[in-house]
Amino acid sequence: MVIFYSYGSDFKTDKELGISKCENCNHETKKLLLTEKYKVKFFYILPLYSKVKNRGVFCTHCGNIENLSKKEYDNMKK
Ligand SMILES: [Zn+2]
Repeated sequence: MVIFYSYGSDFKTDKELGISKCENCNHETKKLLLTEKYKVKFFYILPLYSKVKNRGVFCTHCGNIENLSKKEYDNMKK
């Protein structure tokens, strides 16, 4: 019996935050409010397991995520 699993990170963008300076790479770049989830799927379709790995402000230049607490994140989403 062959069982196919897939796993990896899923990125979900909640909001575009516009251009601002990144503290990590010092570039003026577009920032996104983003949640990174770790997911394991069965047959590539059914999600078996998913867990929030990171949530915060994502830099589209260097890929750095400034972590935010759930409360801070929800406030910025509004
Ligand atoms: Zn950056």
